[in-house]
Amino acid sequence: MSKEKISIIVPCYNEEESLPIFYKEINKVSKEMKNIEFEFLFINDGSKDNTLNKLRELAKKDNRVRYISFSRNFGKEAGMYAGLSNATGDYVAIMDADMQDPPIMIKEMYKSIKEEGYDCVALYTSSHDDYTFLRKIFTKCWYKLIGAISSTPQVPGARDFRLMKRKMVDSIINMKEYNRYTKGIFSFVGFNTKWIDYKAPDRIAGKSKFNFIKLFKYALEGILAFSTMPLVISAFVGLIFCLISFIAIIVIIIKTLAFGDPVSGWPSLACLIIFMGGVQLFFLGIIGMYLSKTYLEVKKRPIYISKETEKDLIQ
Ligand code: UDP
Ligand code: MG
Repeated sequence: MSKEKISIIVPCYNEEESLPIFYKEINKVSKEMKNIEFEFLFINDGSKDNTLNKLRELAKKDNRVRYISFSRNFGKEAGMYAGLSNATGDYVAIMDADMQDPPIMIKEMYKSIKEEGYDCVALYTSSHDDYTFLRKIFTKCWYKLIGAISSTPQVPGARDFRLMKRKMVDSIINMKEYNRYTKGIFSFVGFNTKWIDYKAPDRIAGKSKFNFIKLFKYALEGILAFSTMPLVISAFVGLIFCLISFIAIIVIIIKTLAFGDPVSGWPSLACLIIFMGGVQLFFLGIIGMYLSKTYLEVKKRPIYISKETEKDLIQ
């Protein structure tokens, strides 16, 4: 019987310092798991440093190393999609290059799938002591909000690090949407997932690519991709305002008939007009956001563009 194969997908953006350390560690793990064949698939997401050269070197000396180098930076979501759609293993893991997802965990994850019958083993972090006060509050509110308005459950603190069976990977690849919010996609496809609480260590080298603004955009992406509730709320608020105005019209008519028409109430009228204008623009903006996502979806642009792979290397 042929050996089972695990593919390790590693999205890399400016990871020249982390890569050698990561490779050393994952190689060590692969040696310990003797009955398993490995494939290491690195995605170079338009790095501006020496990441691509490092990958070329690794691919030359180890034929288990493959890489896809993008023509520019497409983002981690695109990197994960490229990895998943090109991996050939019976099991596929997605890991960060910065050692925040320790390679040694693969052993335990594989064991859980084999012995406990799970389709997927994933990691989440329950404590966020390293977050700033503001980020902690935002994170908490976001999970509460998405839990309330989306039918796709999101595990708080879920990382992208997970090991999945081929069937699950295939169903993720079948979701070819352009606006990818992979954490939601993992949850959408279902399958039996075991969650392990794990405190991720600090990254070994380089800097995090996700600042507050990027994270905020990512959070918004999650809402737009997995809930249409903001549209329902807009319609509902609109309906309530119609009812209020209907009641106000009746009150004004009765008041005018009973007491005549003294010209007063200009300030309140001005406030009302501004308020209504604001509410309308706000909801128009929400519709606009969904529309812009639809616009990008119908264009069917490629999720990533590959410029070079290990096959282009002259052996
Ligand atoms: N990454 C990527 N493309 C990007 C940004 C990040 O492929 O545009 C990769 C990065 O190299 C790393 C992983 O995604 O392997 C997670 O990024 P990072 O460590 O900066 O995020 P954090 O762990 O701070 O959330
Ligand atoms: Mg990281």
